[in-house]
This record gives sequence, C-alpha cells and structure tokens, in this order.
Amino acid sequence: MSMNRREFSRLGALALAAGVTCTLSAQTPPAGNERKTGYAVIGLGRIAAHFMPGAVNSTNSAITGLVSGHRDKAERIAAQYGVPASSIYSYDNFDEIAHNPAIDAVYVALPNSMHAEYTIRAAKAGKHVLCEKPMATSVADCEAMIAACKRANVKLMIAYRCHFEPLHLRSIQMIRDGELGQVQAISSCFGFNIAPGEWRLNRKLAGGGPLYDVGIYCLNACRYLTGEEPAGVQAFASTIDHDGRFNEVEENVSWTMRFPSGIVASCATTYGANMTGYFKVYGAKGWVQIDPAFNYDGVHLRAELSGQVIDQLSPSHDPYQFVAEAEHFSHCVQNNLEPQCPGEEGLKDMRYIAEIYRSAGIAT
Ligand code: NAD
Repeated sequence: MSMNRREFSRLGALALAAGVTCTLSAQTPPAGNERKTGYAVIGLGRIAAHFMPGAVNSTNSAITGLVSGHRDKAERIAAQYGVPASSIYSYDNFDEIAHNPAIDAVYVALPNSMHAEYTIRAAKAGKHVLCEKPMATSVADCEAMIAACKRANVKLMIAYRCHFEPLHLRSIQMIRDGELGQVQAISSCFGFNIAPGEWRLNRKLAGGGPLYDVGIYCLNACRYLTGEEPAGVQAFASTIDHDGRFNEVEENVSWTMRFPSGIVASCATTYGANMTGYFKVYGAKGWVQIDPAFNYDGVHLRAELSGQVIDQLSPSHDPYQFVAEAEHFSHCVQNNLEPQCPGEEGLKDMRYIAEIYRSAGIAT
C-alpha cells in the first residue's frame, strides 16, 4: 500500500499521543453485594430499550430516572421499571437531577451531536456518565466531555458493548496468545440500508454518515484485535443513490488502516445495503472470524488454527452485552475504578474518523 508520508507521520503522532496500544478489555468480576448504581436514561429510543433490561438484569444497576421530551412515553416506561413520577425529567428541567440522590449516573442515548451537551450537563450535576457511541461528532466535543467529567470528578465511559462480548474477548485472546501466528490482515464491514427520515441522515445531528454510526464498530474492533493504533489511513467515500436520503451525509465509506506492526485492515461501511457486521483476522497459522460480530445476539465465532476448527455461538441472548456493560460501569462507579472504555477511547476513534474523512475528501 502506498502511504502519503505526511498522513503517516500525523497518524504516528496521534498514536503516540494516544499511548500506542489499544487496551485489552476484560469482563467485570461478579459484583457480590455491591450497592446498586441508579441510572437516569436520557433519550428513550431504540438503544435505550436494550440497555434498560440489561441494567436491571445486572446485579448492581437500577433504572432510577428518565429524561424525555414525551411525558406519556416516559410514564409508560417508568411504570415498567418502578421509576417514581418525581424522577421523570424533560430536557428543560434535566439539570434538576443534581438534587436527586437516587440518580448516581446517566446513560446518554440521544442522537450523536447531543451527547456532548448532556454529558457536560450531567457532569455539572455531579453524575457519572455512560455515553453511547459515537462519543460525539467532533474531537473538540470529546475533549470538552473528558474535561468536564474530570473537573466534576465523575466517571465517563463510552458504551462500546462489544468490549464485553465474550467471543470478541476470546478472539483477542487467541491473537495475543499467538494461536494465529503473526497476524497479516483484517477485513471488517458493517452497514444497513437506511430508511428515509432518520436523524442519522441529518448531518447536524449525526455528524456524518455510516462511519459514525456502524463503521465505528469495524474501526474499534481493528484497534482491539491488533492491540495497536493505526499509523496511516487511506479512504474513499461515495454516494450512489440520489433518492433524497444522502443530501447531507455520504452513503459509503471504505478505508484501509496500516498498523505499526505492518498489519493492514480493510474496512467498509454503508447506508445503502444490508451488510452484516463481521470481522476476519488472517494470521500465518490460521484465521478467526466473527460473523455476525456486532449484533445484539447470535454472535458467531469460527476459526481454523493449524488445522483445528473452532465453531462457537455467543453463550446467551440479548441483552447479555448490556448486562455486562452496566455491571462493569456500575462496578467502576462503586469502587472508584477507571472503566475499560473511558472517554479517551471514544476520543481516539473520533480522531481516526476525522483522519478517514480527511483522506476521503469529506469536510468535517
Ligand atoms: P433513536 O432515534 O431510536 O432514539 C433517540 C432518542 O433521542 C429518541 O427517544 C428521541 O425522542 C430522542 N431525541 C431527543 N432529541 C432528539 C432530536 N432532536 N432528534 C431525534 N431524536 C431526539 O436512536 P437510537 O438508535 O436509540 O440511537 C441513539 C444513540 O445510541 C446514537 O448515538 C446511536 O449511535 C447509539 N446507538 C448505539 C447502539 C449500540 O449498540 N451501542 C445501537 C444503536 C444506537
């Protein structure tokens, strides 16, 4: 792969600033009789509907507040989770959570560009923050979120649920243990055929197209699979369907990342086709793939290592990833520990997204 020398050194500097290796995630030990961390859920949409059952199925988390622009919907969900009416907030009176001792943390499940505002307001209210991916829509917003949480002495974690997926952890372990031999290449894709009218197609709310939304899973996976930070990227973007959906964001992005060891990862994301999220890692002694990799359930690992075949399905079903995610963050909150994927992890991905966009010629 030919690499523009200037791009290579800019990314090299980024990787150094980021602390060259991507940390290996681990699962949280059972919490025992830990106090429950109470979460106020901000934005009662699709992902919140997976997180809430996950949290209440963990040993150490509870839903104790709701923040919504739709009072009737919030009341229905409050009844389901035993949240008192006094703990339902609107976006306007949200800051009053500061006075609610049942709320220890917030879970931010809003459109991407709103993550920064609500993280910073929650930190000012003295609440810990579990924020959905992508962390924000700009590097500057990510930095402001990290600074606000540090200033308020509250924890900040980005909800990268695959960091808690047992088969993802198993593939990382296989690679680290040398079972694949020297890794040479990775391929990873994730996309879907988006319906018109989604906020995801609005640049102001989404920040960009499918890379911010689902391509980020491929980017993040390549970093945790290699344990390295990209030293160079090259990217292309395109829009094929001129049917009104892609007036503000691009339809397709394909990109290649070169890691310091020489491993090359090829990734693609789209809003124009259903593309099951997967990754495949090729090493000198064999390969491992997870396909589907980024679903809420049905995650399927297959590997061939020196002739030995491994075939394993994820051990449980949705919302198991969310149970583990809530369990981990609550454990960190209760024991003053640094979470596995803190704000700095979201910031790194945002920097690489900016690099990919720059390479593809898309203004950020
Ligand atoms: P959604 O549209 O289903 O829900 C968004 C919520 O935000 C809704 O309740 C909506 O009412 C509220 N909202 C407040 N202000 C809004 C505005 N101006 N425009 C639109 N909605 C507004 O979205 P979602 O799929 O739940 O995504 C929410 C966040 O979660 C996004 O950042 C997304 O990237 C992330 N997400 C993460 C995963 C994951 O697996 N970790 C999966 C899906 C989405």
